[in-house]
Amino acid sequence: MSTDDDVTATQRSGTGSVARREGLGAEPTAEPTETVGFIGLGNMGGPMAARLVRAGYRVQGFDLAEPARQAFAGTGGTVAPELTGAVRGASVIVLMLPNSDIVEATVRDAGFAVEHGATVIDMSSSEPMRTRALAAELAQRGVTLVDAPVSGGVSRARTGELTVMTGGEPADLDRVAPILTQLGTATRVGAVGSGHAVKALNNLLSATHLLVTCEAILAGERFGLDPETMLSIFNGSSGRSGSTENKWPNFILPGTYDSGFGLRLMLKDVRIATALADQVGAPDPLGHATAELWARAAEALEATADHTEIVNWLRKDASR
Ligand code: NAD
Repeated sequence: MSTDDDVTATQRSGTGSVARREGLGAEPTAEPTETVGFIGLGNMGGPMAARLVRAGYRVQGFDLAEPARQAFAGTGGTVAPELTGAVRGASVIVLMLPNSDIVEATVRDAGFAVEHGATVIDMSSSEPMRTRALAAELAQRGVTLVDAPVSGGVSRARTGELTVMTGGEPADLDRVAPILTQLGTATRVGAVGSGHAVKALNNLLSATHLLVTCEAILAGERFGLDPETMLSIFNGSSGRSGSTENKWPNFILPGTYDSGFGLRLMLKDVRIATALADQVGAPDPLGHATAELWARAAEALEATADHTEIVNWLRKDASR
């Protein structure tokens, strides 16, 4: 059951055939010898770091939150009490953090004393233009940055079946491919920042689909239609999406709202996508409408709300 929207179906259909793909949770050919620093052990980072531990990497994990550090300790990884301990001696550092502000603050922190020649993989959903600038900044320190954001949500983070979108020089991506293979299937999108660009665009689609699926089902319900019947029709018709196939049946209809992907993180991604469209001069009136509605929902709901709770905001507040 995937939680965040994924691009796997597109890949299966072959429309992404020009991009190079690699891996699917494959076994490493030899016991890994690298030490990996892993910063951000939250909903996604926790299970991803645990997979690297299981694959045999020496993983030094750090998170600001004590519960996240404790959960990682239970996987057999090494918990670093502060940032310095996570990056010390690591040839590869994975970042799985909420946003570009935090990514930049982390790599600029004095404790981020990474070795010359190390590679940083930013797997967070960050802002592509800022990623490019950060890569240039790190290059001055002799450190390589590649971006490898993911889709597939918490369940596929656990099983190592994430869709990974990579940006960077081919030789740099070759270097980190064995690590990414443990986490999912990577597609090389382009130069550094490209993974972050396509990730945000994917979530613009996801956020828009979910919102309009909620509108359609709420309208159908008021007309007297059964939501499950509507979903089964949509899923056999052209209205099908990750929202009709996954989010509604698994998180909204049962009323659990526990996809593990926060509403504010979704809003961040939509804003990254609309900013990107604006920066390149692409038309995005619907994107701006989506961003505005998600922003209103974020203001009305708890800070910790799951993104699937957007339906409750629509039910109660949207028409006010
Ligand atoms: P999360 O909030 O569960 O985890 C983020 C973690 O980062 C938290 O544990 C937090 O304590 C930690 N953190 C924050 N600032 C820190 C700092 N300065 N140093 C160390 N740790 C710090 O978020 P998540 O759902 O795991 O998402 C992480 C990233 O992955 C985000 O960019 C998100 O957009 C993206 N993403 C999430 C999903 C999903 O389904 N949850 C799917 C795909 C991509």
